[in-house]
Amino acid sequence: MPQPIEKPNPDSLYCQACLHGRGELIYYASCQNSCAVCRSALLPVDFAGMSRELPSIKDILEDPSASFWLRQALRGALARDPVDAANDAEMLVSLLDARCRGALRS
Ligand SMILES: [Zn+2]
Repeated sequence: MPQPIEKPNPDSLYCQACLHGRGELIYYASCQNSCAVCRSALLPVDFAGMSRELPSIKDILEDPSASFWLRQALRGALARDPVDAANDAEMLVSLLDARCRGALRS
């Protein structure tokens, strides 16, 4: 049976289904094809995204230059289950990204 690895390296993969479904982040070596737990396809870890400086939630809520919409969405999300909120936020990103790409194509 394939074994998950403990620390990510630049070639690591992870299971998005386990992360979003159960809040469990499992790293896999790049030679793995699927998750050992749920058999879902694995995705590459986004190291560029991880190394980017991300402001804290507190920073955003206190930043007058952050949009009202973003701060309101963040406050609403903080009252929810973190996994549900992250899943919904990811769907929102996908929908808005598709909308934006569509607008740029037309
Ligand atoms: Zn999984």
